[in-house]
Amino acid sequence: MKELYKEIYKKIKEYDKIVIARHIGADPDALGSTMGLKELILNTFPEKKVSVIGVYSSVFKYMGRMDKLNENEIKDSLLIVCDTPNVERIDGVTNPRDYAYVIKIDHHPAIEKFEDLKWVDTSASSVCQMLIELTYETRLKMNKEAAEKLFMGLVSDTNRFLYDYTSPKTFMLVSKLIQDTKIDITSLYNNLYSRPLIDVRFMGYVAQTMTVTEGGLGYLIIPDEIVQRFGGDAALAGNVIGSFNNINEVLVWVIFTEDRKNELIKVNARSRGPEIHTVLEKYGGGGHPMASGARLKNKDDVEKIINDLEELCKNYRK
Ligand code: AMP
Repeated sequence: MKELYKEIYKKIKEYDKIVIARHIGADPDALGSTMGLKELILNTFPEKKVSVIGVYSSVFKYMGRMDKLNENEIKDSLLIVCDTPNVERIDGVTNPRDYAYVIKIDHHPAIEKFEDLKWVDTSASSVCQMLIELTYETRLKMNKEAAEKLFMGLVSDTNRFLYDYTSPKTFMLVSKLIQDTKIDITSLYNNLYSRPLIDVRFMGYVAQTMTVTEGGLGYLIIPDEIVQRFGGDAALAGNVIGSFNNINEVLVWVIFTEDRKNELIKVNARSRGPEIHTVLEKYGGGGHPMASGARLKNKDDVEKIINDLEELCKNYRK
């Protein structure tokens, strides 16, 4: 493992131009890891040109702005892809082979090889955790700005240290990070957890309307009109899905949101028991064992996913 850290560090050192990418539909781990890595590299090698690419996220604006990429520089650049297991999900990169060298740093189960060098650790709570580890194992230099971004991504992906991939290593790394950089965790928690009233009202709607099956599947189909009524968009469910984690009767929960404009149905699924990512993969989506998603073109898939997840819950209970 130590060799791998060294290898990644060596490649970062070798290239003057570095582009950092993450998955579409950015979340705090994807944003925190890419923005944090940029800070780490610039703090260690101020002369390098480092660009973070992907669509800007106004929901997570506290993570910072994206960079404009000079297309002419791609062929000489090192590409580092964080938190993304397959090419189709990379935001802002059509063909990784256009870059001089590609590194993948990820904690999703492997889907596709598109890299020259990979570090995939499915036991890691987050890519942010992996980058804190990488920094402490190499000559990359931590600073407060990087620490803030990495902390927010890690806290978000573990749901405040709740999920079971929160390990002794997670606490050890975070403890060292806070000690070394003196980040103000209260203000960072404010960024992450203060939310608009509309989200809270929507959570009430989800709680009231969710159907719960015999096997322990909670599900809800949200038509476009309801999304409009709450004044939100198809991302609304993604903002609240994590809040339904500790319901006695619910093992797996899934929200289907109609996105009429893009003619698709967005799926957000979570579990606190059986592994669900393989079900979502079957319908063109994917993700983590306990947190997955998909975008459906075919309405009939909704019922199929409900049936598959119900089956999964029943088997798990057995
Ligand atoms: P979300 O419910 O959007 O927060 O997504 C939860 C997890 O599922 C994240 O790790 C995403 O990377 C993954 N995911 C979401 N949508 C898709 C998709 N359409 N295809 C593959 N993975 C997805």
